Amino acid sequence: MPAATLDPYRKRDSVAGHGEFPLEVKQRLIGMVMEDPRFPEYLYGCYECGICVAACPSARFYDFSPRRIAQAASRRDVELMFQQMQEDIWECSQCFSCLRCPRGNNPGGIITVMREVAVKEGLHSAREALAGYSRIIYKIMSTGTQVSPDMLQPDAFPDWGPEVKDVSENLDLWRRMLPPETLHTTTTGWKVADRTLVELYVIWLETGALDMIAQVDRGIHMILEELMEERLEEEGIEV
Ligand code: SF4
Ligand code: SF4
Repeated sequence: MPAATLDPYRKRDSVAGHGEFPLEVKQRLIGMVMEDPRFPEYLYGCYECGICVAACPSARFYDFSPRRIAQAASRRDVELMFQQMQEDIWECSQCFSCLRCPRGNNPGGIITVMREVAVKEGLHSAREALAGYSRIIYKIMSTGTQVSPDMLQPDAFPDWGPEVKDVSENLDLWRRMLPPETLHTTTTGWKVADRTLVELYVIWLETGALDMIAQVDRGIHMILEELMEERLEEEGIEV
């Protein structure tokens, strides 16, 4: 059974699916997407030429099309955009190959905005899509870098076969072979300067980026909030 919640959207979302959302809720959420200042920069109408689809890696593997994203957004089709927000947008790999669009559209950018709204509003689809990424979110937001080499372990990446075992066993050696010294670490993607990390913490706290995490994973949010506040306190910075 889904957990009980006071959030009426979330309850409907997790219990009955997106079809149960009232129209005004869909309009509000899609309104947030269209009112985003990036939205008009990412959309100039669509020729339906399909160039973005040909360039899109996700379209090769999933029932997904950046052209459908651009068309729905061009028509301001609230129902279809809301449906895409629940399903299609999570198939995008955010590679931005679709920037080849001759009309100057950025379907991947529209998807970024839609994802942000889905996360901010704590939609079930966002929580489900991000459920397997808690460890990665923690790593990125605590260290200021990305997936670290020591996360490349056979149990985490069984589909890599013997390759990942070889890499994990000789990790130190592989990393020391890399020319830039900032990459001679196995616990972070690269060494981040203390000052940079403190600046990142301030940005994530001040912009509300950290609060977005609370909507999808309260546990990780609490851990990160404590970590960041403690560090900023050491630096004498109040946020
Ligand atoms: S950003 Fe998304 S929509 Fe655009 S090409 Fe990459 S996977 Fe496809
Ligand atoms: S490349 Fe641009 S104009 Fe062509 S289908 Fe895609 S979004 Fe539309």
